Amino acid sequence: MPDENTKRAVAPAVILFGSPGSGKGTQARLLGQCVNGPHISTGDMLRAHIEAGDEIGHDSQGLLKAGKLVPDSMVNELVRRRLAQPDCQDGVILDGYPRTIHQARFLLDLIGGCHLRPAVVHLVVDYEKIVARLSGRRQCPVCGTLYSETTNPPKVAGICDLDGAKLVTREDDSEPVIRQRLTEYDALTRPLLSFFRESGVPTLEMEGAGAPPEEISRRICGELATRGVVVESSAAHVAGPMAGVRS
Ligand code: ADP
Repeated sequence: MPDENTKRAVAPAVILFGSPGSGKGTQARLLGQCVNGPHISTGDMLRAHIEAGDEIGHDSQGLLKAGKLVPDSMVNELVRRRLAQPDCQDGVILDGYPRTIHQARFLLDLIGGCHLRPAVVHLVVDYEKIVARLSGRRQCPVCGTLYSETTNPPKVAGICDLDGAKLVTREDDSEPVIRQRLTEYDALTRPLLSFFRESGVPTLEMEGAGAPPEEISRRICGELATRGVVVESSAAHVAGPMAGVRS
């Protein structure tokens, strides 16, 4: 039965939520097919600052390397500035933000003053699969596309399908750092699920494993359309069977 979130005006702030390695980055890129707006990854933004060698990069580098979260004030400010850009007017896909209760409150306050409506997509993946997934993860340094040696390999080993760049392993994708990131997630980020529910933010629980990324994306787009978070027409060409969707 339709609820108050169904069929409303559409300018979604889709929050991709889940542990490190649950596929947020991959799904954020694929969801561009049904969510009209940029992919905003605080992890990618921080890595760009590190690459640029500026003050934010300098202050965050050690924390990323250790698998610890950077201070809320730093990421909140990055997101505040990014959401003020004109390309965020029709919607946004947030990947890796918010990650703490302070960030979540900040975000809801920030978008409460504009027309963006939050919706959470929680990608659920067993932790045993996560370490294996992240250890075999490779990323294109040019376009950011993610690959997995086992589940989603590039056509030519070590080379990006899209631009031919040599794939790299992220510095924080080593086993001890992966475990630290999972610890941070459990302590600081996972509790946000109840905060979102209490705040009335629609939350979808989606299996983040057991199907190809494109199929998982189709399911997410279909469910977002059913909930009225995105318009039916923008999801129609990617929406497939709803099997595996839990909400
Ligand atoms: P993953 O979700 O796989 O850990 P990300 O690229 O989202 O990858 O994040 C990498 C690192 O960047 C995190 O371990 C953390 O150090 C930092 N980071 C990214 N987003 C945030 C955030 N919202 N708050 C604090 N730290 C963040």
